[in-house]
Order: sequence, then structure tokens, then C-alpha cells
Amino acid sequence: NLKKAKVEGKGVLNNRISEYILTNLSQCGIKTHFVKRLNMREQLIKRAEIFPIEFIVRNIATGSLTKRLDIPEGTLLERPLLEYCYKKDELNDPLISREHIYSFGWATEEEIKYIDKTTLRINDLLTGVFRAVGIKLVDFKIEYGKAWNKDTDKKEIVLADEISPDTCRLWDVKTEKKLDKDRFRKDLGNIIQAYQEVARRLGIVPETTN
Ligand code: 5GP
Repeated sequence: NLKKAKVEGKGVLNNRISEYILTNLSQCGIKTHFVKRLNMREQLIKRAEIFPIEFIVRNIATGSLTKRLDIPEGTLLERPLLEYCYKKDELNDPLISREHIYSFGWATEEEIKYIDKTTLRINDLLTGVFRAVGIKLVDFKIEYGKAWNKDTDKKEIVLADEISPDTCRLWDVKTEKKLDKDRFRKDLGNIIQAYQEVARRLGIVPETTN
């Protein structure tokens, strides 16, 4: 995604939403890099070696999928679609297959097996979290890394990314109104209001100090 701009207040909202979601996932046994939120804009995370891969899960067809394969916008997929993209801005994060990952040694088969399973579980958990507050989880992108676990004295794979309306597509269940970064990408306006709406529905209360 090439379009860039600074939207006032978006970082603060993303920080809170991501904290809420990652904490929620941790409580469900998903290992993440998140340690704690430090203040309005910063969080403490574990150092992780990031796999150069974006893991994308899609429940409803939109965005690059509809363009690439000429699939009608809004098509409900028979089952969640997991896609891999090579993290390379200069190339616009191209779609790759699992075989590319193994051939270039970006991750092992064992690692991908674990990541795929974890990613689909995250999709199930997040679908439920959002559904409960009247939001459809259309698709999202996550990244993983390897971080040191001081209890086991071993490296382990952790979810190493924010999860927020910047990285997910979120549609209102009833109106299908976009409550995510597509408001910015498509110049729909009211970006902050949409992010605030997501935070409010998740029960995240605004913070005035810190
Ligand atoms: P698409 O491939 O349709 O553009 O994006 C699929 C999903 O992955 C969307 O939820 C989108 O927000 C997320 N996504 C894909 N690439 C990126 C990226 O480079 N940055 C962010 N923040 N999200 C991405």
C-alpha cells in the first residue's frame, strides 16, 4: 500500500485497539510479542526476528483479491482463504506460494504449519470478538517473528504485529459501512470517527491522561 498520510489521533486509537485485541488473544493462549502498553502512543514488545512474510486471511472477497481474480466484491468465501505475501515495499508486497517460502528459506515447513494453524485460530477468535459488537471481520494481515522465551530458554514463534483497523477490514454487520483504513484508501472521510466507533463498540474508553 503506497498511499501515506498522517491522520491526527489514529495512532492513539490503534494503540488501544491493538492492546485490547492482543491481550484478548493472549488470554486464549496465542503467543504474542506484546508485553504492555506504556502510554498513549507506545507499547513495550518483545524483540522478535520477523519472518519476511505477510499472512493474510480473507473471509469475504474485497481489495486486491477481487482485482486479481475478478471475484465479485463482497463474495462470502466457502472457507477462510490464507494468502502469503513477500514483505518487500519496493515490489508492493507480492503474493507468493508456500513453495517460495521453503525454496528461499524464509521459514520451514514446520514453522508454516504452526503459523497457519495459529492464524486460522486467530481468525476464528477475532471473528467472534467483532461479531459480538456488530462488526464483520472481512480480512486482515498479520506478521510473525521468533522471540526469546526466558522461561523455556528457547526461541518461539510469536504474533509480532499490531491488529487494528489499519490492518483489518471491518464492516458494520447491518449497513456494511467500512470502519477501517479503506476510509482513507478510498477517500471516504471520517477516518477517526470510524476508528473511534470500533474502539467504543469494543468497550475501550478514551483516555485523557498519560
Ligand atoms: P489487500 O490485499 O486486499 O489489499 O489487503 C488484505 C488485508 O490485508 C486488508 O485487511 C489490509 O488492511 C491488510 N494489508 C495487506 N497489506 C497490508 C500492508 O502492507 N499494511 C497494512 N497495514 N495492512 C495490509
